[in-house]
Amino acid sequence: MELIGKHLIAGEWVGSADQFSSDPAQGPAHDFAAGTVDLVNRAARAAEDAFLSYSATTSKERAAFLNAIADEIDARIDALAEIGSHETGLPDARLRGETGRTSGQLRMFAAHILDGAYLDARHDAALPDRAPLPRSDLRMIQRPIGPVAVFGASNFPLAFSTAGGDTASALAAGCPVVVRGHHAHPGTAEIVAVAINAAITSCGIDAGVFSLIQGGGLEVGQALVQHPLIKAVGFTGSLRGGRALFDLCAQRPEPIPFFGELGSINPVFLLPAAVAARGAGIGKGWAASLMMGAGQFCTNPGVVVVLDGPSADTFRDAAVEALQQGPAQTTLTTGIADAYFDGRDRVSATKGTTTLVTTKRTDKRSVTPSVFETTGSQWLSSDALAHEVFGPLGIIVRVADMDEMRTVARGLEGQLTCTLQLDADDTDAAKSLMPILERKAGRILANGYPTGVEVSSAMVHGGPYPASTNFGATSVGTMAIRRFLRPVCYQDLPAALLPTV
Ligand code: NAP
Repeated sequence: MELIGKHLIAGEWVGSADQFSSDPAQGPAHDFAAGTVDLVNRAARAAEDAFLSYSATTSKERAAFLNAIADEIDARIDALAEIGSHETGLPDARLRGETGRTSGQLRMFAAHILDGAYLDARHDAALPDRAPLPRSDLRMIQRPIGPVAVFGASNFPLAFSTAGGDTASALAAGCPVVVRGHHAHPGTAEIVAVAINAAITSCGIDAGVFSLIQGGGLEVGQALVQHPLIKAVGFTGSLRGGRALFDLCAQRPEPIPFFGELGSINPVFLLPAAVAARGAGIGKGWAASLMMGAGQFCTNPGVVVVLDGPSADTFRDAAVEALQQGPAQTTLTTGIADAYFDGRDRVSATKGTTTLVTTKRTDKRSVTPSVFETTGSQWLSSDALAHEVFGPLGIIVRVADMDEMRTVARGLEGQLTCTLQLDADDTDAAKSLMPILERKAGRILANGYPTGVEVSSAMVHGGPYPASTNFGATSVGTMAIRRFLRPVCYQDLPAALLPTV
């Protein structure tokens, strides 16, 4: 496949002195120009210049632009599936599905802004005769925040990357975007950038609304979040990387919001009647969810909490049987496989854990499931077990009683999701957990598994830290647009000065 191998800065393909090579799971490697701090300056200035005209576009104009990007992406589905599966090792069907999710997400935001409710418009009419003081005319709506930096995620080369949810919601809000492409899929990023650029041209939008900078090391991302013209950041990735960038945003002379979606172990609580009635089925379901996409989902259900006893054995045995047969799967990067094996070693070395299924490294990018069992008291006495291991690694925590289950729940850090497996006789037990889980997670599920995040209005993909760095927000669903808007009140302004929306 022919690739340009350059950055896209405000409509211009730009090279740089240094190059890096992609590291595909299969197929040929490609060379790409490596990002620089100069390119960050150039892209941020172009984004600020474009902000004036882009923030003044109507919802109708922006919706047409988002729909045009969606069409351009759909038109490139074959190329995206080919390069995407080469670069990430994900199957062709997953890349095609994710392309549809990406264009669908753009169209969803187009429909959302046309509806107008996102503006949350409020009007307090003037009360000139009010005593003792008259009231002015007050109108409030949401306005775009300014140029936004977006970091492409390794685990969703399309739906959370160049034109993914962060970019789609920022463009919908009226904010230009500068993307720092993820080194795991630069070719995929480039083809999406070509699609966005084509939509910019056909819609007559200022080319500064979009730039893509590839590679160049950590200093590029650091310069981007610290650039004075960047006003917010969208990020999906590791707790370590996200926290470093979050701290940089907070330390700026003008601090800016950093919307980081970081780590989560997505606990699943098995309530007694449900496990007694269908322990084996739950075991198989959990195993399937844990193995999906080589466990490389932020919503991967890494921990199960179950009451000790024969029903827990039935659940465990069914899960172990399914996981032992789990095929070797290719990871997105060698670094992710390294981190998975380090995590496995950390868990297996923790006092009081029993290994039920273990994995052997056969090549640098392949993993099979690992499963461990421990007691509630061991879990509560160890910090090492509660950290995300990215990949198909699960821990079964056998608690003595419901009191200990609630204590485990109370001790959890913030999560993207918490899941309950329950039957009718578990209602009281579930009710006693709900006030705890609501404070821990952005999404609570019953009788399902958290992998598979619906892109829709009511979805919340976020949660208290460290699940995300801003737990009042979501990175999936229509409410994601609120991250890139801020309320402005117009007091007694003549109609001619009010923004067109
Ligand atoms: P990552 O290491 O956090 O990298 C994400 C992006 O941030 C990359 O573009 C990276 O730049 C940049 N970055 C990271 N640290 C930085 C720093 N200190 N300064 C400036 N830029 C920085 O995440 P990843 O590469 O996607 O995967 C590594 C690990 O992240 C996984 O093993 C997993 O634990 C976790 N992860 C979690 C989720 C989740 O949703 N919970 C999703 C994906 C990954 P470079 O491209 O130059 O490295």
